[in-house]
Amino acid sequence: MSDRRNFLRAAVGTVLGATVASAAGTRLRADEPVATSNKLGKMNLTFQPYLLTLRHAFGVSGVTRTSTQSVQTQIECDGVVGYGEASMPPYLSESTASVMAFLERVDLSQFKSPFEMEDILGYVDRICENNAAAKASIDIALHDLVGKLIGRPWWQIWGLDKEKTPSTFYTIGIDAPDVVKEKTKEAAKFDILKVKLGRDAKSDREMIESVRAVSDKPIAIDANQGWTDKVYALDLIGWLHEKGVILIEQPMKKTKLDDIAWITERSPLPVIADESLQRLTDIPRLKGAFSGINVKLMKCTGMREAWKMINLAKALDMKTMVGCMTESSCAISAAAQLSPMVDWADLDGNLLISNDVFDGVKTAPNGKLLLSDEPGLGLKKLDAPVNRLDEII
Ligand code: MG
Repeated sequence: MSDRRNFLRAAVGTVLGATVASAAGTRLRADEPVATSNKLGKMNLTFQPYLLTLRHAFGVSGVTRTSTQSVQTQIECDGVVGYGEASMPPYLSESTASVMAFLERVDLSQFKSPFEMEDILGYVDRICENNAAAKASIDIALHDLVGKLIGRPWWQIWGLDKEKTPSTFYTIGIDAPDVVKEKTKEAAKFDILKVKLGRDAKSDREMIESVRAVSDKPIAIDANQGWTDKVYALDLIGWLHEKGVILIEQPMKKTKLDDIAWITERSPLPVIADESLQRLTDIPRLKGAFSGINVKLMKCTGMREAWKMINLAKALDMKTMVGCMTESSCAISAAAQLSPMVDWADLDGNLLISNDVFDGVKTAPNGKLLLSDEPGLGLKKLDAPVNRLDEII
């Protein structure tokens, strides 16, 4: 058996810790001798900025924007390339400059193999505090690389059923009634719409009435911390419940946990944490204040921590959701690998841009996420940018 075959056998055994089929289809036994993993070459990290262009100006409770900065990463090992991405919406304090500066400090040459994921990502996390999106761009590329070396997609490595993916929400940002109606019509086939609220009382009701004028689909609400009074918020949630809303995301400021807990206790709808949540260690204190959590790779440093977060939330009997920023199909495909295990997916970031440069997870016209059997994250870099939404509606 060649060194490379031996290596793959060893690596698969190491990662999965069990008897599994190797990429070459050979069944491994736990008692079989394994080759050392130092046969594999060093990892090479490269990266470059990429500006994501939004299809429509995107309004949330605080701000409206037309583009989002991102940085694309590649980790190459023995001719196999894993792709990653950092996306930096302005409210999260990272920028192209800060991500590039962080990535300059990453030295993967000290590791013998990409399969040392826990050590590699622990090292990356300790380089400095924060920089979650920069860290996620390494985590995602490493997952893609390792999946490709094993020859399996991550949903399968994690033991998930790809048929159990939910339909992604499709987001309608805050806008004038006519524009909201147009955007809603554009999204007519999606199973669940996500509507941004929280600007002011008049705008909130107008947004819902505009959507309901053209669609009777279930609605998920994201208030983006916009409501300031708990009694007002609860009253509005009662009205939204009657309008066919299915959940409320982040009704009040992230620090107002007592007020949010008061709302959650009385709300007819589940209340989900987004801005109140960043990483794994935040979850225990949110139990009781919220019904569930929205996990985003760009806030939690990537797939490895997201996996741990979803498992912890489930163990605490909380609802789970996987969300995104404006992202290309690279980071969306990474988050989608986790989607068979969550209650809701809000993974439309690649549909909101006009210059996606990856093929990856596909979205059915009703929003159902379609994971492929391709290894890693199922990514293919495209030669020319595409407009994903135009492909499906
Ligand atoms: Mg949100």
